[in-house]
Amino acid sequence: MTEYICSLCPRSCHAVRTETSGQGFCRMGTLPKVARIAPHFWEEPCISGTKGSGTIFFSGCTLACVFCQNYVISQEHHGTVMTVSELIQAMQTLVQQGVHNINLVSPTPYLESILECFSVYRPPVPVVYNTGGYEKTDSLRRLDGLVDIYLPDLKYIRSDVSEKYSRAKDYAAYALPAIHEMVRQTGKPVFDENGLLQKGTVVRHLILPQNTKNSIAVLETLQSELGDDILVSLMGQYLPMGKAADYPEINRRITKREYEKVLAVYENLGLDGYIQELSSADSAYVPDFGERITAAKEKVTIADESP
Ligand code: SF4
Repeated sequence: MTEYICSLCPRSCHAVRTETSGQGFCRMGTLPKVARIAPHFWEEPCISGTKGSGTIFFSGCTLACVFCQNYVISQEHHGTVMTVSELIQAMQTLVQQGVHNINLVSPTPYLESILECFSVYRPPVPVVYNTGGYEKTDSLRRLDGLVDIYLPDLKYIRSDVSEKYSRAKDYAAYALPAIHEMVRQTGKPVFDENGLLQKGTVVRHLILPQNTKNSIAVLETLQSELGDDILVSLMGQYLPMGKAADYPEINRRITKREYEKVLAVYENLGLDGYIQELSSADSAYVPDFGERITAAKEKVTIADESP
């Protein structure tokens, strides 16, 4: 591929991209630019397991979240350009290291290269597509049968909030149909005998300071539209990073009160998934996910029946 006119994501830049440079919103060329390749142990337990998730962190992003914890990767574009052959070798090395899955983090700007990669090599472990949720369903359809697990965010329902913090007023208008398409492809969650996710969609939501109404709207929408077809991972580890200092209302951690307000809604809605403890905010890089909520409920039921 020499030059490529890109409309892969909702930005629909129609920008010219060469293999190593791009004039679109994401600023990326078409060859994968990769910032980190390593087993990762701090995803949800059903993804990380005991041997880690084989993460490949791609540089560049279709969003521009002012609070991004991977700011140097997503918006300052640190990383190394790789060929498709090198990307395949990286996946093979991770598989040899024994990871439970191949986890592609912010992969959409490189969709063409990733499809080329899968036309040559299909990992013998589940493929995870880990995205901020701002996706076009047309692009996702091209991954049908190639991705086993989708791991999207649903960051916002409110367009004023998504415009302010991610320069994407139409975030929910794209993210919700995108998540429906993901669920259409994966079906309901399927676990192996060790509790590792083999197929399914896990939707993440990070609670932002002073934005509990947005969080509650996200959880209510997920429950009403997708119910038990998905797992929902509620994250409380927000730390002000990136350009958060320019936005005083989010330039702090979330409070216990904010956390508990959103958590109460999560529990009242009967969502299934994971809750990240508020204490995880002590370290942005080592989030500590709790047990699956259903498992916790099962334990409570057993305890209630004890004398
Ligand atoms: S992937 Fe990048 S260049 Fe392509 S439409 Fe999205 S932001 Fe624009």
